[in-house]
Amino acid sequence: MTQPHRRSRAGQSALRVSFEFFPPRTAEMEEALWQSVTRLAPLSPSFVSVTYGAGGSTRLRTHSTLARILSQTPLAPAAHLTCVAASRAEVDAVARAYGDLGVRHIVALRGDPPGGAGAPFEPHPDGYKTSTELVAGVRRLGDFEVTVSAYPEKHPESRSFDQDIDVLKAKIDAGATRAVTQFFFENDAYLRYLDRVRAKGIDIPIVPGIVPVQNFRQTASFAQKTGASVPRWLAARFEGLDDDPATRRLVAAAVAAEQVLDLVDRGVEDFHFYTMNKADLVYAICHMLGLRAPLAQEAA
Ligand code: FAD
Repeated sequence: MTQPHRRSRAGQSALRVSFEFFPPRTAEMEEALWQSVTRLAPLSPSFVSVTYGAGGSTRLRTHSTLARILSQTPLAPAAHLTCVAASRAEVDAVARAYGDLGVRHIVALRGDPPGGAGAPFEPHPDGYKTSTELVAGVRRLGDFEVTVSAYPEKHPESRSFDQDIDVLKAKIDAGATRAVTQFFFENDAYLRYLDRVRAKGIDIPIVPGIVPVQNFRQTASFAQKTGASVPRWLAARFEGLDDDPATRRLVAAAVAAEQVLDLVDRGVEDFHFYTMNKADLVYAICHMLGLRAPLAQEAA
């Protein structure tokens, strides 16, 4: 019997990846982050991004993490920026400081209210009122490349997919040139969303955000807040493994590899990994995608 052609088995040198990190709170976390950055850097990601804690709570740590990446690695960092609980002048000052540091790429997001995801969003009286306004503001400030978010299962506050995608379109009209998606586990949901987006004439890359499930309970609770659905089959895969971290890790690697390789088979060539500052699973998945550190390539 002839096997169907599997792009994921063809050796995928054209695939591109990016990695997301969060700014560490303690010296120990800083060490863990740095180990992950140095492990993943040789895979030559298109960019690495550093998040901006809810309501700007990590402003200084985000800045110093970006500074370290710029001074100690060849990586191109993208800085996340939100407009929650800050005036335009304050947000602009943060963006200018990113620019002064040498950052040329901003991931512009509205952000969640101080009460967390799900609480109603109130713009700051002197602030950017929407992510669209923020994108336009950042573009006015300098020659920044701007990435925005996209929601394959729609943002929980959106009235409909149509309205959700209209907001994405407005962000692109304001100057965004790439979107990274909220994480998802059903690839069909992402591909259906992509069809809807393309049908509205949007042609920028909509890069799937992939979260390796380092901790199922944590991921499921986060998913609930952000409107990402957790399929029953996924819960079943992790069932009974709460006290078995070794098996959990193997299952997590298998689940993520299954998701990513299926996307490759279905034509996807860009991936954004939510690393949670841990390299191992992401490194293994990238290896399966055919990405190699230069030394490993020479030895092969
Ligand atoms: P938006 O595009 O602003 O949409 C949010 C909601 O507002 C949608 O329901 C949309 O329909 C509605 N909306 C927007 N404009 C209008 C309008 N003009 N009229 C009517 N409705 C409108 N959060 C952080 O705090 N820090 C981070 O570093 C961070 N990084 C993220 C990275 C990615 C890739 C993603 C997907 C999310 C990230 N978030 C981050 C979370 C994000 O801030 C929240 O999901 C937030 O609730 C929405 O902000 P947004 O820019 O993603 O969405």
